Parts: sequence; structure tokens; C-alpha cells
Amino acid sequence: KKQITRLPEWLKTPIPNNSNYKKIKKDLRGLKLHTVCEEARCPNISECWGGSDKSTATATIMLMGDTCTRGCRFCSVKTSKTPPPLDIHEPEHTAEALSRWGLGYVVLTSVDRDDLADGGARHFAETIMKIKQKKPEMHVEALTGDYAGDLEMVALVARSGLDVYAHNMETVEELTPFVRDRRAKFRQSLTVLEAAKKTVPSLITKTSIMLGLGETEDQLLETLKELRKIDVDIVTFGQYMRPTKRHMKVEEYVTPEKFEAWRQRALDMGFLYCASGPLVRSSYKAGEAFIENVLK
Ligand code: SF4
Ligand code: SF4
Repeated sequence: KKQITRLPEWLKTPIPNNSNYKKIKKDLRGLKLHTVCEEARCPNISECWGGSDKSTATATIMLMGDTCTRGCRFCSVKTSKTPPPLDIHEPEHTAEALSRWGLGYVVLTSVDRDDLADGGARHFAETIMKIKQKKPEMHVEALTGDYAGDLEMVALVARSGLDVYAHNMETVEELTPFVRDRRAKFRQSLTVLEAAKKTVPSLITKTSIMLGLGETEDQLLETLKELRKIDVDIVTFGQYMRPTKRHMKVEEYVTPEKFEAWRQRALDMGFLYCASGPLVRSSYKAGEAFIENVLK
């Protein structure tokens, strides 16, 4: 098979610069928040943080440490069976810092913590409740793991006052065992999204799928049908990018035209909103999308 070495033109990214982005970056100093945007050197930072106005500016914050108990084959996060204990002050500190930062929309995410009896669900929910107490107008999206299929934990997070419950399918069913940690299962992930919606029907549910891992069009279409069956509202598609040589390789660089065709398809199938493009990440301009497509 031919080795793909050079990146296609559409994956080359401009250097971030715009004034809102610079201001948000300056405000961030001293708040001691771990943004995925900066740590993963996300190419969308200027668009997300810059947003057309402050109420839509979006950032993604990582909770519960930097060490995951799982090891997915596409992900570059550190792995250990015994990560350091949770910082019990994190919910309060995070809420305090976010309430001072000029953002309209925050995505909270975390590593998976299979070492904790509740998977960290209480810690996550507490953080959301505290943010909403301090700054009720802030929109909060939680991007959680699967809590090993413990739907009580999903319900606990779903009831914490958040606006959007996200859990990523990452790929189609056939590729799941080769892409995600063996504890992550396609059907289990569907039950997470379903449980969140059933617990709080007014919640927006959301998921994200990487393209370019070798999935076929039929497999992807099947996945979208499964997601519509359980009333998932938002889906995003982005190109899988190999973090290092130790991670799985890219099977295909999907063209911008194909991404656009999938976006259209998703909308035709009844998804409320779909972000789709080579550089799209699940939190890509999530604030703007929420305000334009959900609130209006
Ligand atoms: Fe941050 Fe997500 Fe936007 Fe990247 S796509 S800048 S991680 S909010
Ligand atoms: Fe990365 Fe999430 Fe998989 Fe952990 S569970 S290895 S953070 S993708």
C-alpha cells in the first residue's frame, strides 16, 4: 500500500491572529486552566477563541488530570492504571476561573478514570453545577467518557445543569475494536447518548466521528442511522491526524468536498447541526453553532 507522507494543501493552517483571540489568551494567564486548545495546539484556536463576539467564544478545558486509564490508538494522552488522585478543589477553581474569563461557551472534557468508583462523574457534575451558580449565562457542554456503561453516572452528569451532553463515537462499529481502547464499545457508547437524552429530554446530545481511518461509506451511513434512532442532535466529522508514528496510520485524507457532502447528508437525515471539515474537532466553534442553531 502506498505510504502517505505529504499533507494535502487543505490541512495546512494559518497562524492565529485576531484581537479577541489575543485578549482571551492574555486573560487566561493566571487563571491556571488547562485548555485542550493550547495543549493540543489546536489549529482552530483563533476561530474558536476569537468568535465573532464574546458570547460565542469557545474553549475546551480538561478536567481530572492529564493521565488516562485507557489507551486509544488515535490518542496521544498519557496512560496509567493508577493516575494521581483528583484535585478536590478543581470544581471550585475551574468555576471561579471560568467566571472571570470572557467566554460564552465552555466545553469540559476529561481523561477516562476507570480507577475511580464513579469514573469521576460526581467531580464532573460538581464542576458544572458550580459554573452555572457563578455564571448562569455561560453555556456548558460536557464531553464525557462512557463511565464503563454505568448509566446512573451518565444520568448524574446529565442532571447537573449542562446544555449539551457530548460523547464521541469516534468511528464506525466495525473499526471500533481497532481504534478505541478495548473497554470502549460502540453499543455501549450509543447507550450513553441515549441515557443522557432520556434523563433530560431537553438536553442537546452530540457526538463526533473521525474520518480517514478506513471506514466505508456504508458503515458511516449505518452509524448515522443508529445515532438518529436515539435522537442524537449534533454530529461532527473531522479528519483523523496521526499524533505520532506509534499511533495508527491515516488510511485516507478525506477531501473538503467529501466532508461537505457528509455534512449535507447529516442535515438531510435530521441532525440539528453538523460541523464537518478536515480540521473540525468536536468542539469546533461550538458556541457559535449552539447559539445559531439551537437557541434560535
Ligand atoms: Fe479549542 Fe476545540 Fe476550538 Fe480546538 S476546536 S480551539 S480544542 S474549542
Ligand atoms: Fe484518549 Fe479519551 Fe481514549 Fe483516554 S479514553 S486514551 S483520553 S481518547
